[in-house]
Amino acid sequence: MARHGGRGWYGRVVAAAVGVTAVAAAASVWTAQAGQSGGSAAPEAARPAPKAAPVSAAIAHASDRGEHAVNITIDDGPDPVWTPQVLKLLKDNGVKATFCMVGTQAQAHPDLVRQVVAAGHRLCDHTVSHDTAMDTKPESYQARQIVDAERQITKASGGVRPMYYRAPGGAFTPYSRKLAASHGMRPLGWNVDSKDFERPGSDAIIATVKGELTNGPTILFHDAGGDRSQTVVALRTLLPWLKQQGYAFGFPVR
Ligand SMILES: [Zn+2]
Repeated sequence: MARHGGRGWYGRVVAAAVGVTAVAAAASVWTAQAGQSGGSAAPEAARPAPKAAPVSAAIAHASDRGEHAVNITIDDGPDPVWTPQVLKLLKDNGVKATFCMVGTQAQAHPDLVRQVVAAGHRLCDHTVSHDTAMDTKPESYQARQIVDAERQITKASGGVRPMYYRAPGGAFTPYSRKLAASHGMRPLGWNVDSKDFERPGSDAIIATVKGELTNGPTILFHDAGGDRSQTVVALRTLLPWLKQQGYAFGFPVR
């Protein structure tokens, strides 16, 4: 339904702008991020992408798949060691996720950003340099962190915009939420912190997720920032388990 809205329009625009060769690839990119407002999934065209339509500035936690669903969110990448392993697990389990990318990481690994998008996952702006104290800094600094990362991620993806904004460490401010929303990026929170970043062991990560699922649908994992082998092992168990429990896998609401 809405997942495919705008595809025809998009195909026509791309065909006119960059020729037929790009249409197949670009159309799948659009499908990958269907529902994206503002329709700017164009490859690196010469003209600047139109600004995305604003979304709510309230921090989202809910899933677009409703009550018995989870949103898998993967932060801090992309990383050449861990992101491909996470992508393979998601693919093997038929799961779509949301990747909150650090701008400099996206810039360094555009191939991985494009793989994420081509596999049907969504992008989220996780700032340029992951400053967890950015809520204490001037608004001009917050704006640069958000808007520059948006640009880095969009360029790396070949024109697909991040649909969400997640402040590093949850360091949102009313200003940063409003700014992100005005760029079409819904502020994104989480309900379940898997604590995978602390490397407590994969069994502990699994137990934390299972034990805290009643908090809400949005689960936080990481695919960068250190050795993420425990995360990979935990996901290998958790994704089939969630499916067995009847959970659908969705995206955060926008
Ligand atoms: Zn982070």
